[in-house]
Amino acid sequence: MDDCIFCKIANGEMDTQFLYEDETVVVFNDIQPKADTHILVVSKKHIPSLIHLNDEDTTLMGHMVQMLPKMASKLGINSFRTIVNTGAESGQEVDHLHFHLLSGNLRPFG
Ligand code: AMP
Ligand code: ZN
Repeated sequence: MDDCIFCKIANGEMDTQFLYEDETVVVFNDIQPKADTHILVVSKKHIPSLIHLNDEDTTLMGHMVQMLPKMASKLGINSFRTIVNTGAESGQEVDHLHFHLLSGNLRPFG
């Protein structure tokens, strides 16, 4: 999607530093952190939200979920909160599927 900020980041069109990258996901720091650690696990595929998942996305979703404890381990974190906002009323601002991982001094969200 041309006008999607997370597609641009995932495609390397922004100078966002990746904490992790593979063929299907990228992980980077949230630009407005709501905790000491606040990272985003983002699919390279443009999927607007959980509502838009297809059966073909099952493997990708499993991978994204597994990235959460892997990134926590990599960052030395053993307790974290995971948030996925779905739809504008929930607080979803970027219509490209992503998992928030937050840890340490969590601040109000949304
Ligand atoms: P959500 O409200 O669930 O859609 O979350 C979107 C998140 O993306 C927010 O926490 C924003 O701070 C974050 N965000 C928006 N633009 C950028 C960016 N360019 N780089 C990193 N994080 C971003
Ligand atoms: Zn996108």
